[in-house]
Amino acid sequence: MTNFLRGLLFVRKCILCGEVLTDGTVFCGKCRLEYEKLGRLPCRLCGKKQTLCRCIPESCRGVVSSAVHLFEYDEDISRRVVSLFKTKNLRVLQDFLIKELAAALSDAVGDELSHYSVTFAPRSAKNIRVYGFDQARILCEGLSDALHIPMTEPFRHARRFGEQKLLDSEKRAENAEKSYALRRRWTRESERLILVDDVVTTGNTAARLARLAREAGYSEILLATAARTPYRKNEQKSEDEECRLLKKV
Ligand SMILES: [Zn+2]
Ligand SMILES: [Zn+2]
Repeated sequence: MTNFLRGLLFVRKCILCGEVLTDGTVFCGKCRLEYEKLGRLPCRLCGKKQTLCRCIPESCRGVVSSAVHLFEYDEDISRRVVSLFKTKNLRVLQDFLIKELAAALSDAVGDELSHYSVTFAPRSAKNIRVYGFDQARILCEGLSDALHIPMTEPFRHARRFGEQKLLDSEKRAENAEKSYALRRRWTRESERLILVDDVVTTGNTAARLARLAREAGYSEILLATAARTPYRKNEQKSEDEECRLLKKV
């Protein structure tokens, strides 16, 4: 087949703006720059750039040892990337995020990687039916291949009580507590575990899974996600705000 015909049949387009790509597989030059900017934004808590930040969500304190992520789920482009990753089974985007996360994990863990297995937060059966795939499983399988570490599946879905994103924070925590359980038959192949998910928001799901993993005998849990919501010094700010508002009254 001539290159011309092949070009017509397999036209690659930027996943964000649809521009036809002459090189690269995921983004056009302009969108690529936008994406790379996300990674350079400093974490609001530790001030380090995203891939170097190891901050963990409040809810995971004491159960998760460290965390790695690629960008914050905040600005327009990050939301679009996450939404595409969650809802469209786009191989090029999956491969891209696996590669990025594998590199970030290699940097974070180095030679110690051989002490880890990798697992994921399983999507509910209903969501798998709706979208036809489990994006966290895809990330996990890809990372297992890329990092040459075993993949393990200690978690199963228990009954779910409504959509996690529609609930208030208290209900979310309660829901996450009840949503997962340990499988009966499964083998632990390492002491340490990398827990993969696409996005971490409240961290309640990760906290629940990390607690289960500890019950199962893992000594260290590293949370790895493509994106996370920005961590802000919330408490302090809201207290200040409250004082200001009270003074006004
Ligand atoms: Zn583009
Ligand atoms: Zn940080």
